[in-house]
Amino acid sequence: MATSTVENYVKQILLEQQRSEGTPVPMGKVATALGVVPGTTTTMAKSLADSGLVNYAPRVGVRLTDEGEKLALHVLRRHRLIELFLVKVLGLDWSEIHEEAEKMEHVISEAVLKRIDALLGYPTVDPHGDPIPTAKGKIDARSLENLSGSPVGKSLRIARITDQAPEFLQFIENNGLQPGAEIRVLEQNRIADTLTIKLGKGVNLTIGASAAKKILVE
Ligand SMILES: [Zn+2]
Repeated sequence: MATSTVENYVKQILLEQQRSEGTPVPMGKVATALGVVPGTTTTMAKSLADSGLVNYAPRVGVRLTDEGEKLALHVLRRHRLIELFLVKVLGLDWSEIHEEAEKMEHVISEAVLKRIDALLGYPTVDPHGDPIPTAKGKIDARSLENLSGSPVGKSLRIARITDQAPEFLQFIENNGLQPGAEIRVLEQNRIADTLTIKLGKGVNLTIGASAAKKILVE
C-alpha cells in the first residue's frame, strides 16, 4: 500500500496535469501546492519513478504513468466521496470538509468507501462540483467556462467552484453561488473589471473578475 506522502504527491501531480495539457509538471509546482520545501522533491520524484508511478525528466518535470494515474484517481475518488459524505450525511459545512478529507482519504477502507458510495446514490460530483472518479478510474474531464468570460444575457448554471479556501467558500455560500445555482450575467464592466449577475431569486450581485474566474459555469 502506498504511503500517505506518495498518495498526496500522485494526487497533486494529477491535479496539475489536468491544468497543463500534455506537458510535464515541474516538481517545484507540486512542492508549492503541497507546502513542502522544494529541495526534497527531487528525491521524491526519483522515488516515485523507481516505484513506476511517474516518468521523471530531471529539471523538466514528471508525468504520471498509467499505474500512477490509477492510484491518483483512486485517492481523488476517496477524497471527493468523503467530502460529500461529510456534508450530506454528517452535516459539516462545505468550507471545512477539505481538511478533514485530506486526512481521511489515506485511511478509509475499500469496504467503507463502497458503503458511502452506495449510501450517497453513486454520486458523480462532490460538494464543490468536482467530478468524482468512478471505481474503475474514469473521470469526467470536460472543461467548463469560467464566469468571467460569460456573455451578457445568457442563462447559466454554476457547476464548479475551483477555489476551496474556507473564506472563499463562505463568500460563495453567503451569496447563494453554490453549484446548481441558476444565474444570468447582467453587465460586464471591463474598466472596473467586475461583472454584475442576477441570481435565480432576483437578487443582483456585483463581483470582481478574480472571483468570477474561480466560478465555473455551464
Ligand atoms: Zn477537497
